[in-house]
Amino acid sequence: MPLPTIEEYPERYRFRFCPRCATPLEVAQLFDMRRQRCPACGWVHYPLPNIASTVVIFHQGGVVLVQRDIEPDRGIWHLPIGHVEYGEDPADAAIREGEEETGLRLGAPRFLTYTHSPSYGDPRMFYIVFSFAADAVGGTLTGSHEGRHTRVVPFDELPPLKWTSQQAAINALRASQGR
Ligand SMILES: [Zn+2]
Repeated sequence: MPLPTIEEYPERYRFRFCPRCATPLEVAQLFDMRRQRCPACGWVHYPLPNIASTVVIFHQGGVVLVQRDIEPDRGIWHLPIGHVEYGEDPADAAIREGEEETGLRLGAPRFLTYTHSPSYGDPRMFYIVFSFAADAVGGTLTGSHEGRHTRVVPFDELPPLKWTSQQAAINALRASQGR
């Protein structure tokens, strides 16, 4: 699949001025790619995908789902998920987000798989999502947190999960367990 050109970048990457020195950017052919470059300081725009982590939490014989409370996809049930902070290991992000969204304390994360797919909010943007599994080892599952509801669903009764990353995580777990 051909890579997106500058004209196909998502809205958030439509830079007109250098973020370092505010000079209007130019387009330059650098090796095999056209890129935005600052003629004054040499800054080059290398757009990157968003990076997120999600976690399948095993708790009381089931998997913890949380209900989304913002658009897009408000109201759907999904695995805890969030952006990886700059400098943060994706495995640490999975545990942090899982604990924040559920109130549980989690054990060591086990890597499952990753996905690369367009963003649901802006299909010209991309997401890389790392998925992990972890057991709840303490804490208390909050029924509602920051307006989010949670529930525990037996693994074999999980409904199809809408987001690519979420279903990929479940599929990877099923494959590893021979189910
Ligand atoms: Zn500059």
